[in-house]
Amino acid sequence: MSPENYLIKSNANAKYQKPLQDKVAIVTGSTYGIGFAIARRLAQDGAHVLICSRKTENVDKAVQQLKEEGLSISGIQCHVGNEKDREKLCATALVTYGKIDILICNAAVNPFVGPLFETTEEVWKKVFHVNVISTFLLIKLVVPHIQKQGRGSIIICSSFSGYMPHPYIGPYSITKTALLGLTNMLAQALRFMNIRVNSLALGLINTSFSKVIKQIPEMKSKLIPLGVYRFGEPEECAGIASFLCSEDASYINGENIGVTGGVLGRL
Ligand code: NAP
Repeated sequence: MSPENYLIKSNANAKYQKPLQDKVAIVTGSTYGIGFAIARRLAQDGAHVLICSRKTENVDKAVQQLKEEGLSISGIQCHVGNEKDREKLCATALVTYGKIDILICNAAVNPFVGPLFETTEEVWKKVFHVNVISTFLLIKLVVPHIQKQGRGSIIICSSFSGYMPHPYIGPYSITKTALLGLTNMLAQALRFMNIRVNSLALGLINTSFSKVIKQIPEMKSKLIPLGVYRFGEPEECAGIASFLCSEDASYINGENIGVTGGVLGRL
């Protein structure tokens, strides 16, 4: 069914509405790659979307592109690891749209690729700070505003490497494992506020992020035995994000959905 054809059954005048009509969403790390595809899809499905990333020029370019597509988009520079930037992000959503219904925590870094025992304290601190601690702190900041809406949805972008850690991206993998735990814990804590928290275990997706991985021989030799027959496209991660934020997923909470082309096989 196309998004335009969703029937709001409770409306006696039988009106058609998009699944995220008039919802307000923040998507972090959304000026290219998976975050960009998710932001575009949420807006296509009716949401007003605030995008962000570290570089103003990337924000401006992405906002312009999505506005030219007729979507309701605004943008702001925000490094998620920076407290002032997180506050500015939250405040901008409230000033621009007056509320927040949806938060997609997508931004992440991977500062080191190489043998596990060559990783330093600095690498571990940076990757945990940006990927895990900042994700939690942004959620903590935004939750009181979602709570005012009486319901809402949060998605955390994790990875299949959270289940199958690879020593060449060791610290990064372990942050993604931590995000699975964070998802579970937040879902328990926030269900009484009617705020659902789910995560995506993303597989290998064609972005600038995964280009590095493709070039590492130690990683490459693992891809075929793992069953990676092709990399996914960012757009293939977007529909599930929109669905999880919609009312069709109203009883789905604390789940972690694999988007891996089958690499992540779980019973
Ligand atoms: P990407 O192509 O490198 O895009 C990253 C986006 O995030 C860009 O918009 C970038 O813009 C922004 N960004 C980076 N660091 C940021 C920060 N500290 N604060 C705010 N924005 C930041 O990455 P991707 O492949 O789309 O990855 C998105 C998510 O999917 C990540 O959580 C990643 O761990 C996860 N994932 C990806 C893959 C994959 O194969 N691609 C696999 C598993 C999981 P600026 O440069 O302007 O900041």
